[in-house]
Amino acid sequence: MFTVQNRLHVSNPIVPRLYGLPKIHKPGKSVRPIVSAIGSPTYLLSKNLPIAQSSFSVKNSNEFIKKLNNIQLQDGEILISFDVCSLFPSVPIPQTLDYLRNLLELNNFSQEVVNEYINLTKLCMKQNCFQFNNSFFEQHEGTAMGNSLSPFIANLFMSRFETDIKEEFEYFPRIWIRYVDDIFAVFDTKVESVDSFISKLNSRFTSVNFTYEIENNGQLPFLDVLVIKNNQNNLEFDIYRKDTSTLRYIPNDSHHCYQHKMASLNFLVHGLLSFPLSKERFEKERKLIKDIAKINGYSENCVDRLIMKRNPKDTIGVNDRSGIYEMSCKDCNLKYVGQTRRSILTRFKEHMAHLKYGRTDKSSVAQHAFDNNHRIDINNLKLIRNVTNNRQLDAFESLEIVKCKNRMNSDNGPIPNSPLYWLVRRDDANLVGETRVESVEKSVLVFVEENYFSVRATSKVPAPTGQ
Ligand SMILES: [Zn+2]
Repeated sequence: MFTVQNRLHVSNPIVPRLYGLPKIHKPGKSVRPIVSAIGSPTYLLSKNLPIAQSSFSVKNSNEFIKKLNNIQLQDGEILISFDVCSLFPSVPIPQTLDYLRNLLELNNFSQEVVNEYINLTKLCMKQNCFQFNNSFFEQHEGTAMGNSLSPFIANLFMSRFETDIKEEFEYFPRIWIRYVDDIFAVFDTKVESVDSFISKLNSRFTSVNFTYEIENNGQLPFLDVLVIKNNQNNLEFDIYRKDTSTLRYIPNDSHHCYQHKMASLNFLVHGLLSFPLSKERFEKERKLIKDIAKINGYSENCVDRLIMKRNPKDTIGVNDRSGIYEMSCKDCNLKYVGQTRRSILTRFKEHMAHLKYGRTDKSSVAQHAFDNNHRIDINNLKLIRNVTNNRQLDAFESLEIVKCKNRMNSDNGPIPNSPLYWLVRRDDANLVGETRVESVEKSVLVFVEENYFSVRATSKVPAPTGQ
């Protein structure tokens, strides 16, 4: 049973422990301190507190590239990246709690909820003690690396920071993309000097200090992307590896489980297929991945196999995929929307078998065809959305059912009362076409992430009347 208490309560809590990860890409013997909060009293609570928010931030390098595509640089514009020195321990907590209160109030939460939320956040932030070498310490400033709430708090602080300076500064770069504490910007040196901009950034909070790196030879690395300015002042991309990269991964003869060994190669192949690489760079990277496979004891063929697997469009027919499907009636305009974890063809055959043997209680499609003597055939089967993540099936099925105007479904899907309903119905004048579709999809994913347990618990709620 998933009660709130079960979800938040840690039995047998332990004191967080400090450990360090060596920074091999930096000179000297520096170490990145991390506090492992796993099993600490507020561990589960802090995992459940973060709420979604919009800002300048991106979640990964693919999102980053998407934001930069089709950018035309003007004369005098340079590529620059900013970095906050030790962001987590530098975040001013009281200030950020005020931001959090503002954010919650803006989202129309009741005062009671806001106060409770702030109190719980304070509780998680205040438990900043840890153990090292049999001594106990307490961190007084900022948030700890390793606290589940830290990325959210740091992100909240940074997004407010950006919004404020964008409003207050006379000049703010037209492109400003952030990943946690790393910022990529297109900076117009004709309007503002980098030095003066940096000193303005650094004067806002004593604890928050920015450093910067300017493009070298028209190239600037950001995350694992190398951004390259071409002769036409457009941007191109390549995969970036630090100089310290040794191309060493888990070797094939290691006793790790197969999935873990494949994970690193899969990661490399994912980069290869998802970055918009030029043909030359694509081939170069493919060769490099094959070399990496060889160095680590794998066969080169396994790289090609992974590429094939990642590109299912070429190898798997549409009817062999899983996800949300639609079956329309040949003799009227009604449609059925359903979900399946197996191939949609298998599911289609099941509906047909129910019809054939008169099991109309088992399938709305069979019921419809039987009652009206209507026909349904394989040409009326369509994959609406390829969903491979099981947790997303219910949400996307409900979404597609609501979107379907003439449906033969007897109910409103597994999540009849979900906020996805007003999402689809909301007449948002600001969002049109692709942007609107994207925004609905994003909301569904956020919704699934945030409500998984509660969705499952309430999925049997009857549909509201009038639907
Ligand atoms: Zn029909």
